[in-house]
Amino acid sequence: MAHFVVIGAGQAGASLVAKLRAEGFDGQITLIGAEPVPPYQRPPLSKAYLLGDMEQARLYLRPQDWYAQNDITLHLDTRVVSIDATRKTILLSSGENLNYDELALTTGSHPRMLPAAIGGNLNGVYAVRDLKDADAMAPEFGPGRHVLIIGGGYIGLEAAAVAAKKGLKVTLVEMADRILQRVAAPETSDFFRALHVKHGVDIREAVGLERLTGVERVTGAVLTDGTELEIDFAIVGVGITPASILTESAGLTLDNGIATDEFGRTSDAHIWAAGDCASFPYRGQQMRLESVGNAIDQAEIVAQNMMGRSVSYLPKPWFWSDQYDCKLQIAGLNVGYDAVYVRKTADDAVSHWYYREDELLAVDAMNDPRNYMIGKRLIEAGKSPAPSVITDPATDMKALLRA
Ligand code: FAD
Repeated sequence: MAHFVVIGAGQAGASLVAKLRAEGFDGQITLIGAEPVPPYQRPPLSKAYLLGDMEQARLYLRPQDWYAQNDITLHLDTRVVSIDATRKTILLSSGENLNYDELALTTGSHPRMLPAAIGGNLNGVYAVRDLKDADAMAPEFGPGRHVLIIGGGYIGLEAAAVAAKKGLKVTLVEMADRILQRVAAPETSDFFRALHVKHGVDIREAVGLERLTGVERVTGAVLTDGTELEIDFAIVGVGITPASILTESAGLTLDNGIATDEFGRTSDAHIWAAGDCASFPYRGQQMRLESVGNAIDQAEIVAQNMMGRSVSYLPKPWFWSDQYDCKLQIAGLNVGYDAVYVRKTADDAVSHWYYREDELLAVDAMNDPRNYMIGKRLIEAGKSPAPSVITDPATDMKALLRA
């Protein structure tokens, strides 16, 4: 009986094993995860769960007994330490070896941490990647305490929103000229800056962290503009790196993460990869996406291809972020945009439409689910309405789908 092994029991790993069974794979499936809990959703870790509005059990993607019911062997609290691709075996942290016929890597990513030389290893300095991180920092969120957030990407901004809602004093520093610079247009940065300022967050752009200070525990920070702050704790949200350590033993090709082809196959014919750790060909480059939508869709394609099919991965990117009462929804990929057009639906509902020449690439919709959905469907159908139609308040947006 064929044995498929999946390393990494997160969003992509859970989707992959479920798809294998849904597609009728009747061989042996083993899913191995380094964390002590069954696969769970990470997005609430910087949103509802951090706020205390969601119980841990609600994070789980499936009840734990679902795996046994579907004849999936789940090894938790178990790290895979190496892959022998020639013998098609893996070595577990328990010392056990497992043989595989096909192997998938869904190992996710690691948060970038600050170097110890600038105080990154002091107590009271946190990243938000897993449940253990969120649980460790939760007791710090007492009203009146001062948190410094380093990095103005989505995770930093979401953590800032949680902290502000809980009555903390929040300072956020972003080294780039503006928050969200890596991922969004200036219009979207402006929207979120204004939202945070309204909630009392002190956002400092074009200012980096020089160093954190304190003895054992962080008590202060020096910024690149010379400002000194007294703080109670710090949250680092400066991006992630793909978890690709296992590729060394397997000798796999790396290119912006674990390089895969359009089918999700790595440079080894029997090893596949999906999710945050994997890059795939997209418009002449190896693209890597860090989102739930990508983890699910890519994993489901890989599951089918592990079963011998040849289904190409064509990403249909979508993403969301919750900050205060604002729901941001993003469709498409704005890479290479040269113009942004704004459609205002109401005072607090607006959408930003990214174009490259005449092609609609992506939409950021703030409190505007209707235009998000229309934008998503237009992008997926390859339709690009003229920008003047998008910005015209009189346009019947739904009619564009029929055009
Ligand atoms: P993961 O879900 O990270 O799973 C990888 C798993 O592999 C981990 O459990 C890890 O422990 C395990 N592993 C790694 N190496 C080994 C090994 N050697 N042996 C065994 N196990 C191993 N995306 C959105 O679309 N919207 C959001 O709003 C959003 N918010 C987010 C908020 C936070 C705080 C975080 C951290 C992420 C957020 N994301 C969001 C991103 C999204 O959660 C990830 O893109 C998604 O989880 C990626 O899935 P994955 O399976 O590739 O990796």
